[in-house]
Amino acid sequence: MEDTLFAKIIRREIPADVVYEDDETLAFLDIHPNNPGHTLVIPKEPAQNIFDISDEALSAMTRTARKIAPAIMRAVDADGMNLVMNNKKAAGQLVFHAHLHLIPRFADDGLRSWPRKEYAPGEAGAVAEKIRAAQ
Ligand code: 5GP
Repeated sequence: MEDTLFAKIIRREIPADVVYEDDETLAFLDIHPNNPGHTLVIPKEPAQNIFDISDEALSAMTRTARKIAPAIMRAVDADGMNLVMNNKKAAGQLVFHAHLHLIPRFADDGLRSWPRKEYAPGEAGAVAEKIRAAQ
């Protein structure tokens, strides 16, 4: 795996506003936040995204997310929180070291979610069947 920006943050070669660390994970503020308190949780074990991360590293990442989410909420007095993981370039992934975004939300923060689409009649059933068959 290529040496990423986040691997450099783990090794403290690049500074970051670290908010939590344990043996398996690191959490730090996103440098370009969607809202104040926007935090990234990363596994220390190298993995690019959901497609190659180990069960252990994924568990550690989500465990840390759940541990620090209430603290982020309290610290910035948020009304809600989005957990987002971008996987691969087409999904908006820019840094190819697995990470979970914890984005505090405020009732009137103006952030819009993605527009929703409609299935054509019968399309949802066909897509579901393809996903079941692909497992
Ligand atoms: P992605 O689009 O890969 O899911 O998210 C990568 C995130 O990393 C972006 O939200 C971006 O703002 C953040 N980021 C990029 N470079 C740095 C950096 O040097 N330090 C920190 N703390 N965050 C960064």
